[in-house]
Amino acid sequence: MGTVYAIANQKGGVGKTTTAVNVAACIAEAGRETLLVDVDPQANATVGLGLPRSQVPGLYEVLTGAATADQALTDTAIPGLQVLPAGPGLAGANVELPRAEGFEQRLRECLEPVRDLFEYILMDCPPSLGPLTVCALVAADRVIVPVQTEYFALEGLAGLLETLALLQRELNPRLTVAGMLLTMHDSRTRLARDVEREVREHFPELVFDTVIPRNVRVGEAPSYGLPVTHHDPHSAGAAAYFELAKEVAARG
Ligand code: ADP
Ligand code: MG
Repeated sequence: MGTVYAIANQKGGVGKTTTAVNVAACIAEAGRETLLVDVDPQANATVGLGLPRSQVPGLYEVLTGAATADQALTDTAIPGLQVLPAGPGLAGANVELPRAEGFEQRLRECLEPVRDLFEYILMDCPPSLGPLTVCALVAADRVIVPVQTEYFALEGLAGLLETLALLQRELNPRLTVAGMLLTMHDSRTRLARDVEREVREHFPELVFDTVIPRNVRVGEAPSYGLPVTHHDPHSAGAAAYFELAKEVAARG
């Protein structure tokens, strides 16, 4: 049975989608069957893998029972990487989901029939701790927390870890933190170096050794509908995501 990762942080713009898309692509490239589930109504992961925002059936149809996860699986340009797209109705799920008792388990139940098809399942979460993120964290075995190396990096992280601990106690005893990932790191600036040191001091065991540099190729890759590892495999950004994928796999 595959390992399920949620890429989560309630802050927006910290590199969740970029990390989900690129780690998924690297793992698939290493020959492992991989699924990326787009849990964010903004559908950036779906679009970043070259699929239309309007692709149906998507996760909304799956969560509401109009389609099975199997029916929503879609091939990407990367061999071994499939995506379960967000679909245009997903924003509504944040309102509709909490009306049903036990909604927190819904995504986990929906993914159960396809878990055996994949060695790795990655879920790109929205920038909030709303119902969709809760569903993803209940479906997950591990969480990867991207942290942008900027001034307010530490803000919200302690709270996020408390929320993860609460979820683990109440809803998902399997849940563990795979690691925190420093993203968009600009090694030329003292601020980035200071933030990195501070985050590593606060969370010594948790931070991945690999740091993702700020890299133009990483930022532009989604406009080509490709992970950076395929858009420019020789870029510093691609190299960092290949390293990270190895570290994620090694941490198990
Ligand atoms: P989130 O999903 O957390 O909101 P994104 O992954 O969408 O964050 O990243 C926010 C923005 O920063 C996007 O425009 C993305 O292309 C860009 N970005 C992410 N990581 C990098 C990086 N390492 N270098 C340059 N730009 C990046
Ligand atoms: Mg995103």
